[in-house]
Amino acid sequence: MKKKILILTLLIITVLFLASCGEEEYSETFFAMDTVMTITAYGDGAKEASEEAYKEIVRLEKLLSVTDEESEIYALNHRTTSNVSSETANLITEAVKISGETEGAFDITLYPVSLLWGFTEDENRVPKEDEIKTVLKNTGYKKIVINENNVLIPDKMMLDLGGIAKGYASDRVCEILKENGIKSAVVSLGGNVRTIGKKPNGSLWKIGIASPFGGDSEQSVEVGESAVVTSGGYQRNFTVDGKTYHHIIDPKNGYPAESDIASVTVITKNGAEADALSTAFFVMGAEKTKEYCKNHSGVSAVIIMQDGEIIKC
Ligand code: AMP
Ligand code: MG
Repeated sequence: MKKKILILTLLIITVLFLASCGEEEYSETFFAMDTVMTITAYGDGAKEASEEAYKEIVRLEKLLSVTDEESEIYALNHRTTSNVSSETANLITEAVKISGETEGAFDITLYPVSLLWGFTEDENRVPKEDEIKTVLKNTGYKKIVINENNVLIPDKMMLDLGGIAKGYASDRVCEILKENGIKSAVVSLGGNVRTIGKKPNGSLWKIGIASPFGGDSEQSVEVGESAVVTSGGYQRNFTVDGKTYHHIIDPKNGYPAESDIASVTVITKNGAEADALSTAFFVMGAEKTKEYCKNHSGVSAVIIMQDGEIIKC
């Protein structure tokens, strides 16, 4: 319900003007999937294409939201059905694959744990250790059984695509923009950036990386067509008795991951992959992230360490 109200009351700031190089620029900012999103597209038909892309985000939120009672994820979590669309089944399959590749650091079965910490409802609390131990028994991506469109999860398990859905949405948005003739665009869905082509003047996109410590961003990456996704404990957290607890959970113990990383930005061709990996890398820490990048030629990262050191791999 909260999400519906947010969508209905979404803030659309629309700017339509001619960019210096003569290409039409259309930029739209709105609130969806619990975050602020901006689509900026260039060229003829940029406005119409962006409106189609916006509709796609609304559709995906309805499909994948963990709180929307009409979503397929909600239906799975509440055992209304085990049959989902092939799109949802494919995304769950992709998430499980990345769990395997990250030794379980990425795990979409942690929803009952996130609920204990109150991260979905924004009624944050520090759970008791035995509460965490109890719900942790019902987690573990290896227990998900996918058979084409049928997704079986054990009793009390609940899925949450919050660590991959925005990245996937960024891929879909770019597909829709391209189908509508757009050759140059930059999309930012929360911390999930995805670009099409190059800037209208032919130069690379310069994507700023927010400082996890507040203040101005000093880091940026220059990319052509790419996904650039950042995860960090600074993005969502609460403080009790001077200790700060953030939203990225270590699947091994059910507590906010004790990471040596303040934020990690992943650069790959695919938004869903970049999104899942950025969450996983935060949990894995710097050494394992460097190793992963070394072994995967299409994946690079900018790590901002807790002590401020910058590591590029
Ligand atoms: P992100 O902001 O992309 O790093 O993803 C964080 C979100 O993913 C959280 O708000 C949870 O919904 C979910 N999440 C938390 N911890 C994990 C994890 N270890 N693996 C997968 N998803 C997670
Ligand atoms: Mg993520």
